[in-house]
Amino acid sequence: MSVLKPGVVYGESYQTLVESCKKGAYALPAVNVVGTNSVNAVLESAARNKSDVIIQLSNGGAQFFAGQGMTDGAAAKVLGAVSAAQHVHLLAEHYGVCVVLHTDHANKKLIPWVEGLIDAGKAHYAAHGRPLFSSHMLDLSEDPLEENLALCAKALKDMVPLEMSLEIELGVTGGEEDGVGSDEDVTDNAKLYTQPEHVLAAYDLLAPIGHFSVAASFGNVHGVYKPGNVQLRPEILRDSQALVAEARGTAGNPLDLVFHGGSGSEKEKIHQAIDYGVFKMNIDTDTQFAFATAVGSYKDQNPKAFAHQIDPEDGTPYKKQYDPRKWLRAGEVSMAARLDEAFADLRASGKSLALN
Ligand SMILES: [Zn+2]
Repeated sequence: MSVLKPGVVYGESYQTLVESCKKGAYALPAVNVVGTNSVNAVLESAARNKSDVIIQLSNGGAQFFAGQGMTDGAAAKVLGAVSAAQHVHLLAEHYGVCVVLHTDHANKKLIPWVEGLIDAGKAHYAAHGRPLFSSHMLDLSEDPLEENLALCAKALKDMVPLEMSLEIELGVTGGEEDGVGSDEDVTDNAKLYTQPEHVLAAYDLLAPIGHFSVAASFGNVHGVYKPGNVQLRPEILRDSQALVAEARGTAGNPLDLVFHGGSGSEKEKIHQAIDYGVFKMNIDTDTQFAFATAVGSYKDQNPKAFAHQIDPEDGTPYKKQYDPRKWLRAGEVSMAARLDEAFADLRASGKSLALN
């Protein structure tokens, strides 16, 4: 018996999915995509692992989706995200799993990007009765807490009528991604650890407005660093959940938590984070590397095809080798294989609500 229809989930169906993750102690990979190659690789892996999945775009990924040749970069960031979302809406149900559509980090400078997407979302909702994206993220963690929360409340109020959710960030994720983030010293900085009282303040302001999730910082860092340089402290997640549950008399794990910078993390810490209410783990660095290594080995195996259309010595045509479908497909296959691992690490394999 399937619980949800395959395709893009939002509003109540999104919340059903989040609850299922938390109850079943598993999480969904949230994969950054930059084009149809990466979108399709995500869908391919999700389908064969019988897992639901989150597809997300950073502002740079959205711009790339529209094409680097578009001269109006701000417009490209909106149009590229809309284009990607339309592609996913069209294909997701045919892959037979549930897909959450999301946008990644937007700091204060990028609020107009999110507002542009909310406007596009309104038009889409009016035409189709469903939002374009399931959720957006606002990352105002570099701003004072009060301002961060006030701006998040404003955005959430705009999104609730579209049956959308908001991801916020409290505490700074180390490293940077697409120009958003921090170059704070990753080894010793209190800002890299979310304060549970800040999470309670967010809960009090946002929970009455609508559904939100929290990217909490517990020593996580974007990118992959030398082992030992990053100290993950998932107990910060546990303490935040406990504070809200006790102060507001809710059931256990009231918060829906997001794990940024998961690439390269120890599996034990990932599982602890899931037990403390993480339903979404972002993955970008490792899938980028997987795509690149496969294209690199393809080129190593077919060096002449990348230098000559026809072999200069024996006249062999290389069209079949330099056809972009060959080496882009190699990238897709490798990215999908890396995601097979992610679904297993997050205990998501076989758990799709569209199939179970
Ligand atoms: Zn992030």
